[in-house]
Amino acid sequence: MNKQKMTKLSLIVCLPAFVATNFFLWKWDAASFLSPPASTTEGSSLSEKDGLPSVSVDDWELVLVNRDHLFESEPKSLATVGNIRVDSRIARATQDFLAAAQVIVLDEVLLSGYRSRAEQEQLYNERVAELEASGFDQVEAEATVRSQVQIPGASEHQTGLAVDMSEEAGQLDEVAGKIRELAPKYGFVLRYPEGKSHITGLDFESWHFRYVGVENAQYMEKHDLVLEEYLALLKDRK
Ligand SMILES: [Zn+2]
Repeated sequence: MNKQKMTKLSLIVCLPAFVATNFFLWKWDAASFLSPPASTTEGSSLSEKDGLPSVSVDDWELVLVNRDHLFESEPKSLATVGNIRVDSRIARATQDFLAAAQVIVLDEVLLSGYRSRAEQEQLYNERVAELEASGFDQVEAEATVRSQVQIPGASEHQTGLAVDMSEEAGQLDEVAGKIRELAPKYGFVLRYPEGKSHITGLDFESWHFRYVGVENAQYMEKHDLVLEEYLALLKDRK
């Protein structure tokens, strides 16, 4: 894909995401504003702040990577776990999470970890080409791929803090649900859950787990927050 086309594509991708994000933030503010005073009835945003971890939005494990926040650097140090590479700071957690998942289903494997920007670009372009070969026109193909594969720079795999974990042949929903329940204990969250694609920009992925640290993961899971929502809550903390 040439540079001019990529720039155009970035605009197509970024604009709706920008509008969606701002609408979400506006809704968030409006909801807080409209909540009754805490002295009478506790508003939802206040109850969500109960037990909010004392962490900084700038902590390394909370780095936000999506279409509005491209990752332009590289992990400082990578370590190999199974057949994949991850940021060396999460190697132990990844190993332990995999071992716990293999107790539920023996064939659970790590399918993907760290991916360079060039590898992400290749993956994206290959998916577009596959769809075009099956009869989609270019616009349709790219629109479909964008809901399934992040554009280069927008993939968490470039941070080394995300893993795809599943059985090679795919996973039953029931099994995937049990593994998701295990994740926070090891500092991981299911990054693209059902019902949040208007915020994350990606369709539901039962296999993509992101390391955020145990305390953050447990809070996010308990309060049903994706990373974008959790960071907004941390920033909003008085
Ligand atoms: Zn993934």
